[in-house]
Amino acid sequence: MVSEKMYELGTKKSTIRTIFEFGRKRAAEVGEENIFDFSLGNPNVPTPEYVKEAAIDILTNMPPEAVHGYTIAPGNPQAREALAKSINERFGTKFDGHNLFLTAGAAAAITICFKALCEEGDEFITFAPFFPEYRCFVESVGGKLVVVPAKVDDFQIRFDEFEKRLTPHTKAVIVNSPNNPSGAVYSEATIQRLSEILAAKEQEYGHPIFIISDEPYREIAYEGYTVPYIPKYYKNTLVCYSYSKSFSLPGERIGYIVVPDEVADFGAVYGAIAGAARVLTHVNAPSLWQLVVARCAGQPSDISTYVKNGQLLYQGLIDAGFTCVKPQGAFYLFPKALEEDDYAFCERAKKYDLLLVPGTDFGCPGYFRAAYCIKTSTIERSLPLFKKLAAEYR
Ligand code: PLP
Repeated sequence: MVSEKMYELGTKKSTIRTIFEFGRKRAAEVGEENIFDFSLGNPNVPTPEYVKEAAIDILTNMPPEAVHGYTIAPGNPQAREALAKSINERFGTKFDGHNLFLTAGAAAAITICFKALCEEGDEFITFAPFFPEYRCFVESVGGKLVVVPAKVDDFQIRFDEFEKRLTPHTKAVIVNSPNNPSGAVYSEATIQRLSEILAAKEQEYGHPIFIISDEPYREIAYEGYTVPYIPKYYKNTLVCYSYSKSFSLPGERIGYIVVPDEVADFGAVYGAIAGAARVLTHVNAPSLWQLVVARCAGQPSDISTYVKNGQLLYQGLIDAGFTCVKPQGAFYLFPKALEEDDYAFCERAKKYDLLLVPGTDFGCPGYFRAAYCIKTSTIERSLPLFKKLAAEYR
């Protein structure tokens, strides 16, 4: 009577959701302050004042029909111009409004790109550890997700394994830096090498291979780490950006796709993006938030809480005996679990009400993710518990 696949997707909860819900139940039993919930990537930094002020000003002073009405599908032309200008100022690019397509966040942006590009038999490559939703987004458009195993010493790219997985069916490669869940930022050398390999393969196969750069964490990169702007290195790049994390607006659903003029057959790609958005019932990105982000584009994000939390948790885990790559960006740590079975490890952590997500869910068994977009005091109080947990393994 119903699609089995949709039923399964709608009723089988993700591990992250299951752990989060377990945490809510435990909090009701033992009190919120006794739960150390590192499960969800929901920003805990308040939305900046300038965003709130822009929203209030727009709501107060603009005609309601201009604020709440439909926009054209790619988004309000003035908003797209303003966003393109801000991107150009930051990255020295030469975009204008026609290069942007506004979306309901990064999830919509990447899914629209998958749907726009995917033809029968196409493959999309991702690097472990990766955002688990990629699998259902890619499969929903009939594509196949191909996973490159993790380079666990620094969470850059295992190019030997990557090259083995490139085939004439490869349509696109998904890049997510700063990365969820590893917290790694891909270096310029990584992006250069990736671009060189792909350019050579495009020549060999005689068709474009796209990079889909999923970058909701672009602004959350720590001192000493720069996030290369990939269109400057590789021409067939589609950039998927979101304000969910940089402006702490995950519930408002606003972001965009950048389609540079240089992509192979710009008109076809942009047209297919519009078509994909149409059948995915996009209609238009939320009108109010198009105006708000256009006004606030380029304003700085306050990442000081994430810097402090990342350092605190990293040092605490190292002191407790964990192995972990230093935080470089986003708001996640991805340490090695203290036993091979990461599910068993995360289950054992629950004894101390430490709620962690097994690495297997991100395509990287033997590790776990800790999201540190939570209160600093919660992290402080969790550190002795991590020590107790580690002591169980000695
Ligand atoms: N991509 C990655 C890597 C993410 O971590 C997330 C959200 O956590 C998304 C995409 C979706 O973000 P948005 O809220 O912009 O749809």
